[in-house]
Amino acid sequence: MTTYDDRPWLALYTSDQTPDVAVEFDDALAMVRATFAARPDDAAIKYFDGVLTWRQLDEQSTALAAGLREHGFERGDRLAVYLQNVPQFVIAMVATWKAGGIMVSINPMNRERELAYQLEDSGAKVLLCLESLYDSVARKVVPDTDVTLVLTTSELEYQNRHDSRLFGSVSRQRSDGTTDLVELIEAHLGESVPDVSYGVDDVAFLTYTSGTTGVPKGAMNTHGNVCFTAQVYRDYAGVGRDGSVLGVAPLFHITGLIGHIGVCLLSGSSLVLAYRFEPQVVLDAIREHRPTFTIGAITVFIALMNAPGFAREDFESFEWIYSGGAAIAPSVAEAFEKATGLPIHNAYGLTETTSPMTLTPRGVASPVDQTSGAFSVGCPVNNTVVRILGEDGEPVPLGEVGEICAKGPQVVLGYWGKEKETEEALPGRELRSGDVGFMSPEGWIFIVDRKKDMINAAGYKVWPREVEDVLYGHPAVREAAVVGVPDEYRGETVKAFVSLKPGSQATPEELIAFCKERMAAYKYPRSIELVGELPKTVTGKILRRELREPAGS
Ligand code: AMP
Repeated sequence: MTTYDDRPWLALYTSDQTPDVAVEFDDALAMVRATFAARPDDAAIKYFDGVLTWRQLDEQSTALAAGLREHGFERGDRLAVYLQNVPQFVIAMVATWKAGGIMVSINPMNRERELAYQLEDSGAKVLLCLESLYDSVARKVVPDTDVTLVLTTSELEYQNRHDSRLFGSVSRQRSDGTTDLVELIEAHLGESVPDVSYGVDDVAFLTYTSGTTGVPKGAMNTHGNVCFTAQVYRDYAGVGRDGSVLGVAPLFHITGLIGHIGVCLLSGSSLVLAYRFEPQVVLDAIREHRPTFTIGAITVFIALMNAPGFAREDFESFEWIYSGGAAIAPSVAEAFEKATGLPIHNAYGLTETTSPMTLTPRGVASPVDQTSGAFSVGCPVNNTVVRILGEDGEPVPLGEVGEICAKGPQVVLGYWGKEKETEEALPGRELRSGDVGFMSPEGWIFIVDRKKDMINAAGYKVWPREVEDVLYGHPAVREAAVVGVPDEYRGETVKAFVSLKPGSQATPEELIAFCKERMAAYKYPRSIELVGELPKTVTGKILRRELREPAGS
């Protein structure tokens, strides 16, 4: 019998991908320094029509590090970045490492309660945010935290300058005790900081795990994690030094941190940024900068495909695209390929795996499982062992459903200050993902669903994704989310929320009949609610929990 130890997926790799590879760097700062030295005058970041070179990124991050040290920032201190997709994000990340610190990555959509929790939990000493977010949110929170320095910046300073300097000397008077990031950088330009180096298990960032997984915890992504996963994306997606990476995922999320920033820091490709995800703005950036790689949630690609003026040629420059973070219905992957001429490759991972755990390798297409209709999330990436464990904690036979678990150089050290949660989710540093799925005898991984999303209808288990896949097969359906709702008779029953494609029409009755025809009687939705837009996290994951428990209920 084939076992996990035989690593059946190895047979799926093409010869240019050695399953166990040497990791080129242990230290993310050493990794980016090599790029600074190799290509100082090339573009590191393209933001609207401005360009920041690798040399400028090096100089400005050193200046910021010097400024931070002057304010008493020391080895191991935390700097919280609470920013949209602006170049300042990358400058702050490199500067934090140069100053010996750990970056805390905070979702700019967070409001007071979430921000206060993450600042307090991480014990951040410095906070960097947009002026507008300081005024509207952070100002109320900071006095009750350990933050002693607030740096503010403005997205407009860069956007308004159509030259190749980063910010210029736009002086902004702040009279609220905060420090202008640009002024701090300019005041320290030309200074140096003492050399710092890191080991494989030193923490590079704290990333707060997705709101869909409950109480936020700061995952400790190490320097070793960052260097390894940047290398995985570079090699799997073929991101070369003359390529460019379109940043459509939010930078604060692990997908953006690694699949956008990390891969550029390692490969020397340029990062194309747009302040926030607006389909027209992103399409303009694609047309102007001709990116070669991107990774994002499928909902992002659907939005681009449906944007007015979208044309097949818009995706011509891409050599490789990964969809990650959320499930893809096979029908959606097909529609994407039809509209763009590009196959979509699947990327699966968690904050706790510093992004990639499994990917569609080069040279093969992810298969669709004939029984469940699931589109495979790929097979375990280099140097990684994935096991599927049953309720008893023992591996189940290949092909059987259990919890997907992973061990490899991408698995985080644990959760910041949370030993009990670390022990539960990462015993022996093997991640228990909470995702339920199976591995085919050939080594493809299929996700059935998340443990807690399962609907239990009088003992019959219904996996929402399966019902959603059927709904996506209806020509009028744009997006669908299925949840369990209380039912007097069966405990729980199936309900679907559906948004229709613009200009399409379908009644709930029609959609129910469509599902009833295509699945076992216990599975089809007993009710369907038509909505304009489904609630999503900023990374594009549909928030089933919000649908299950509407605000205020
Ligand atoms: P996060 O920590 O925010 O990255 O969320 C990780 C979760 O997103 C995983 O546990 C999965 O439930 C889900 N996820 C990530 N990638 C995929 C994928 N390619 N297909 C299906 N679900 C995914």
